[in-house]
Amino acid sequence: MTQPFPTDWSHALILVAHPDDPEYGLAPAINHWTRTGKKVTYILATSGEEGIEGMPASEAGPLREQEQIRAGAQVGVHDIEFLGLPDSRLSEAPDLHERLTAAVKAHPDTDLVISLYRGPEWGPGMPNQADHIAFGDAAVDVVAPLGIWQFENGPEPTHHVEVSDEDVQAAIDSLAEHEVYLRVLDPTTPVAAQARAQVYRSISRDQGWIRVGLRLISRPA
Ligand SMILES: [Zn+2]
Repeated sequence: MTQPFPTDWSHALILVAHPDDPEYGLAPAINHWTRTGKKVTYILATSGEEGIEGMPASEAGPLREQEQIRAGAQVGVHDIEFLGLPDSRLSEAPDLHERLTAAVKAHPDTDLVISLYRGPEWGPGMPNQADHIAFGDAAVDVVAPLGIWQFENGPEPTHHVEVSDEDVQAAIDSLAEHEVYLRVLDPTTPVAAQARAQVYRSISRDQGWIRVGLRLISRPA
């Protein structure tokens, strides 16, 4: 049994490695929060510049930033920051902790953080990415001393956010904004269909409810 997600907060930071990380798994909850008056800020370590096969980083980085900005707008997020750290090589970035600390400190009103899953795999045969693990670990180091809520977006949730069909549709529209990225990733499945399948995978449904699960890392003292 998962617990209802806390509501005693007003500003959440979403700390992720790449464009599209906020959309895989979190977007329905984010739409629920922004439409109920919560403030949500995305902080992305990289611009995902190595993420589009066959496209040079100098072209892919700016393109993916624009896709991420449009994706955020679909779920009511207009505050999106890119730290410009190296995609696919986050664990080697010597200033990772320093840059993340500065970015978090720039939002002193933050009372909740959601960061990336740090475990080795999402499930059998589904390995997690090194960038996710490196940034997730750094986020825990940086946020722990603040004594605020921290969750991660991964398997074995402890808490759930109740969302609506409207939130699910906004999440699909949000992920579908990563249009070029998804089209290159899977040229044979239409982008909207890819987005719908991914978002459906990230929610659980039963009679009368739709939920997004999140795993508690630490709570306010
Ligand atoms: Zn990622």
